[in-house]
Amino acid sequence: MKIAVIGGGISGLATAYYLKDFADVDVFEKSQIGGKAHTIKKDEFLFEEGVNGFLDNTPETLELCEKLNIKTVKANENSKIRYIFDDKLYKLPASPADFIFSDVLPWSAKFRLFKEFFVKPEPKDDESVCGFVNRRLGEFFCERFMRPMTAGIYASTPESLSINAAFPKIANLEKKYGGLFRGMLKKKKGGNPSGELTSFNYGMSEFIDKLANELNIIQKEIISLDELNDYNKIILATPAYDTAKIVEKKYPILAENLNKIEYTPVAIVGFSGDIEPVSFGILTTQLKTLGILMDKYIFPNRNGIRCMIGGKRFEKIKKLSQKEIIEIVKEDIEKIIGKNSLKFEFFKLWENAIPNYKVGHLEIVKNIMSEANKIDNLYLNSNAYKGVSFNDCIKNSKNLAISIRYENN
Ligand SMILES: Cc1cc2nc3c(=O)[nH]c(=O)nc-3n(C[C@H](O)[C@H](O)[C@H](O)COP(=O)(O)OP(=O)(O)OC[C@H]3O[C@@H](n4cnc5c(N)ncnc54)[C@H](O)[C@@H]3O)c2cc1C
Repeated sequence: MKIAVIGGGISGLATAYYLKDFADVDVFEKSQIGGKAHTIKKDEFLFEEGVNGFLDNTPETLELCEKLNIKTVKANENSKIRYIFDDKLYKLPASPADFIFSDVLPWSAKFRLFKEFFVKPEPKDDESVCGFVNRRLGEFFCERFMRPMTAGIYASTPESLSINAAFPKIANLEKKYGGLFRGMLKKKKGGNPSGELTSFNYGMSEFIDKLANELNIIQKEIISLDELNDYNKIILATPAYDTAKIVEKKYPILAENLNKIEYTPVAIVGFSGDIEPVSFGILTTQLKTLGILMDKYIFPNRNGIRCMIGGKRFEKIKKLSQKEIIEIVKEDIEKIIGKNSLKFEFFKLWENAIPNYKVGHLEIVKNIMSEANKIDNLYLNSNAYKGVSFNDCIKNSKNLAISIRYENN
């Protein structure tokens, strides 16, 4: 059996890996192997262009590391120190006891949190993160915590993300237990490990290179399905808009549905030099710069920091020059930490960085999958559908590979 996997990001590579002892698998990649997971070296500095790491709470990722015989490295204790910038710096409390006396929320907002116990569930088909969090935890909490958090994870905003698609575990606490605190207390009894941030000594590319070494990779852009007639099965592990282009001639309705998934742009700007406070980093509530990630303080062999700018908050970055973007980042850094001696080192613009799981996303995905399921031997798998994290991509890839193998037994 011959299988073509289109897209050499983690979704394509992991799917190919789990199928390689079952079929002859070719992976087609049009540009960078690893996709959004790619490390660059600049002089003595090592920078991630995209993915920084993953939480060690997903067995599939750890299993893949073990199979590849690659050593993982856990972020050090500095990774537990995190800040939010909302006109001034707020240190995030490390424990519930710290939280009580922390200045991260005013007393009125803290009391509002406790009222969550008494907020009745309001089952809805879907709701924005903002609607859900305002309703359950109050507006102040949404502004101070969810705005930076949605920027940090999705480069998005609480208004434009679906609670069901972007934070399904949180949405389920309400559905299953009637409330977030009720659910967390019940789940704590059963244990709910949240995981530690993990990467590799020489960055994500160390892992990607090992994975790619096990596979047959062809550097080629696939324009249409007609090029793949020699294959028994085709797996499209490409971003939704690229997938749409590949299928649109034969399957216009599928393409139309795929194009409903929008992406947000992100630029990463790397600097070297000293910066305080030593920590995992700082997420912002309002600035065009979404956050500063202090990689040098948490993983070995990283001597720089990275700033993330753009997202849904500032989609205009797509139209700005590199110079203009770097200037904005420098101004924002000064607002956050004051005068500094940071030196510019590297720049990467992802015009379509992360799929925006907007309200109704799960319905869009349902329609996409129902169209795709009508086509024999064609499969879709990428971060566009059911989870954007590195862990989700690996888990979904393994599951897809298992189901393809099962179909043929
Ligand atoms: C800046 C940034 C930081 C992130 N940080 C983290 C993090 O720290 N932790 C985490 O868990 N997640 C993180 N993510 C999310 C995570 O990186 C992605 O969700 C994941 O890597 C996506 O993998 P993928 O294989 O689905 O897609 P991609 O990585 O986008 O791979 C798709 C591949 O398909 C190729 N392709 C497209 N069209 C064609 C074609 N026609 N023919 C051939 N090839 C084609 C592309 O070139 C690309 O290489 C981050 C994302 C970004 C953008």
